[in-house]
Amino acid sequence: MELLVRQVHLKRAAEQKLAFFKKELQSTKSKLQNALQQLEVAQAAFSCARDDVIEAGTQTGDNETEQGDNVSVEVDANINELRQPSADQPEIGGLASASSPTLHAVDIPAYTSTDPGTWGEINDEVREYWADRGPQFCQNMTADFSTSVQQYKSKKRRFSKSFFNCRLVNGENVRRDWLLYSPSKGAVYCFLCRLFGVNDKNGHSKLGCADGFNDWKHANERIADHEGSESHCKCMLVWISRTAEQGKIHNELKRQYETESQYWSEVLKRVVAVIKFISERELAFRGDDQQFGSPQNGNYLGCLELISQFDPFLREHIARFGNAGKGTPSYLSSTVCEELIDLMGDKLLSVILDKIRMAKYFSIIVDSTPDISHSDQLTFIVRYVSEDGNTEEHFLKFLHISSHTVESLFNSVISVLTENCRGQCFDNTSNMSAAYKGLQSRIREVNPLAEWVLCGTYSELSWGKCNQHPLSKL
Ligand SMILES: [Zn+2]
Repeated sequence: MELLVRQVHLKRAAEQKLAFFKKELQSTKSKLQNALQQLEVAQAAFSCARDDVIEAGTQTGDNETEQGDNVSVEVDANINELRQPSADQPEIGGLASASSPTLHAVDIPAYTSTDPGTWGEINDEVREYWADRGPQFCQNMTADFSTSVQQYKSKKRRFSKSFFNCRLVNGENVRRDWLLYSPSKGAVYCFLCRLFGVNDKNGHSKLGCADGFNDWKHANERIADHEGSESHCKCMLVWISRTAEQGKIHNELKRQYETESQYWSEVLKRVVAVIKFISERELAFRGDDQQFGSPQNGNYLGCLELISQFDPFLREHIARFGNAGKGTPSYLSSTVCEELIDLMGDKLLSVILDKIRMAKYFSIIVDSTPDISHSDQLTFIVRYVSEDGNTEEHFLKFLHISSHTVESLFNSVISVLTENCRGQCFDNTSNMSAAYKGLQSRIREVNPLAEWVLCGTYSELSWGKCNQHPLSKL
């Protein structure tokens, strides 16, 4: 019985191997056919180019001879060189005549070439063709990189095979499956951005353009930057979803993408938690400097350092990227922190606005206060009754005012005021001024239901009966 089971297993394994080899054979056949077609195209192009040069050379030679210039000698020499191929470049049998009908009958699209520099304009046909095949057929990792040589002042630089490898954020070394080398242009391309990139001022780097990228002096930084760029990630998502639809996923690229996404999500979780903690307590974010390890680096970096003492992931991240400087993404910089504060503020604002819409009616409380640069700003606060019957007050935003004239104040307020406003309140001191008196009457012209209400608490504060203005709690 055991013997029978074993034989069945062996038979299955043999069948699977046979199927695999058949598939491989089929794939090799199609690659060979493709290569043969490309060879024919190249031969045809070579013959055409040769004839063009001969024709141009003859014309130039005639002209120059008439003028008595010696340039014609060089041209003639070139023509003879072309007419008499050297021993190491034998004439291609049967292809000597550019007018050969069999050659011109071959009509292979340029985009089928494995050289991405010859793809020309990218359209749906090109996308379809290469998205089906994947980048592994056009990376040209074993090509001759001599055409990539660039002269830099006193030094020549060229593309190196090492650019095909990179280090992931988690320290793992992997191959850059998306990077393509073009032997004809001596430049590199991004498979994803070349095919799926949108040509806008933010996203399209040179790696996605028709001429490719060939600044080898800055290649390490530029390629790494490109790899982490938003536009590159978007293109990768497009490709992953496209291949997933067809049931063909490039596992290595997908794994790299997921590893990167997961890593940065973990970093952002910690950063957002710190920002929320500091904001809730109304503490200052930044200190005198922005260096990890410095006692003057402020609450934001200080909190991250504190967490890193108990969190190996954050400790490792800070050690590798914390003080890496500009150009190396760490997601710990003050710029990212401010960006996150803005995003979180927008989210909070939309939640408050939803609540106001639910309540429908609201009143406004407006007061002006100078900021640190002595620019006057209007604090705009709304008051409404929530769904559970409680009165709620929320600071919405600062409104910029150019002057204290009635019209300037009115324009600022009216930009956020809607017809559902049912009350308006300014502090008593300001109400005594002509500008605020004018403002409340102007608002009532637009919305007669926006009643003016005296700010009683401010009066108490002014008389010293209350030691804290309620608005300052917001
Ligand atoms: Zn890219």
